[in-house]
Amino acid sequence: MRDLEYVRSQPVGVRHIGDGLVVAAPSEQSRRVLRHLLVAGAQDICYPYWLKERIDEETGEIHKPRSEFRLAICGREVVKDRVQVYRHDSAVGYSGLMRCGNVWGCVICATKVLRRRGDQIAALFDAVHADGGTAVMVTFTASHKAGDDLGDLLGRIKHALRALKDMRGFRDLVGDRSGQVTATEVTYSERAGWHPHSHQAWFWPKGQMPDSEDLASRLFPYWQKACEKVGLNTLEHFKGRRVGVDVRRAWDASEYLTKWGRERDWSLSAEVTSGRMKLAHGGSVTPWGLLEDAIIRGNQSPAADLWIKYLRGTKGFQCVSLRGARKLLIHYGLPTSYDDWKDANDAGEGEVVGSVGVETFSKVVKAGGLGRLLEGARAGGLAGLDAELQSFISHREDLHHGLT
Ligand SMILES: [Zn+2]
Repeated sequence: MRDLEYVRSQPVGVRHIGDGLVVAAPSEQSRRVLRHLLVAGAQDICYPYWLKERIDEETGEIHKPRSEFRLAICGREVVKDRVQVYRHDSAVGYSGLMRCGNVWGCVICATKVLRRRGDQIAALFDAVHADGGTAVMVTFTASHKAGDDLGDLLGRIKHALRALKDMRGFRDLVGDRSGQVTATEVTYSERAGWHPHSHQAWFWPKGQMPDSEDLASRLFPYWQKACEKVGLNTLEHFKGRRVGVDVRRAWDASEYLTKWGRERDWSLSAEVTSGRMKLAHGGSVTPWGLLEDAIIRGNQSPAADLWIKYLRGTKGFQCVSLRGARKLLIHYGLPTSYDDWKDANDAGEGEVVGSVGVETFSKVVKAGGLGRLLEGARAGGLAGLDAELQSFISHREDLHHGLT
């Protein structure tokens, strides 16, 4: 893996985590290359899960064997004549590749899509505040135990939230909200299994926002009833902290709601060097932590098994949704369509640094060097891209300068 060599050759910096505490942290370059390493690792784990060839009984169409997960081929399938390396503001990326758009499981798609969602949600917060409105962050959780199926839990929570919305008492309590944004998050611990929870930003028009603490205690009985309806339990407090429903005043929760795609938790290189396993810490881990463990431990490890369960469990569920803010978005003249797959596959308007032929590109993929190739282009433009490519190929014909 050329990317792994690259990350290991980079000096490790430190990150301040408050009160004079510092932890080892990869450099910015390493962090960007790590994304490619994590995706390559995830692909390696989910690639063996193949669906057999299938013939559609109605149309007679033959569906070729394919991986159960689109993530397995994200950024590997070239959909144009050549792969372009482009620069857009400070970002350097590839275009002409199929992207999976799986915000739950693909680090590259999550980074790209959730950065956009973050900007969109921030724009909504700005518009609401400029209008004198306010917002709170509400978090809903339900009880769960080790061994529970993630997809089942996510489905029940979704139905409970729907049941909640239909309750008259709930509507009387918060029916004057102007809109909401929802982000679903999942963590895992060996002790308690999957822990899905729903973070929501609720917006209120000027002068109408209720007191957070009061709202939390009045919401809880409705949430409890909704959970009961779908066969879930929930607790009002745990160790003196609100858990079932938690409400906080929020100025701008855009970053919080899209933190899934943030890079601060990724530390594959640090984990590789110290040999520490995230799962072994006993606390809860994010799915990215699970993925890191799975990559380090290998395809047969319990972490790899959990990672596959996680990909299956989240299939079909939306991670960040602005659907509940539709009216509000229209009111402020903001866009209302948000498509993860489309956003992941949209390269945007960028300046083309150079382009790479399909064959050469596949050599770079095989050598596991997609991250460092981009770093070459970022640092040295076309010459940098060229120099990196030289290290992957023995001949130059395939490199086409400045093709647009
Ligand atoms: Zn992807």
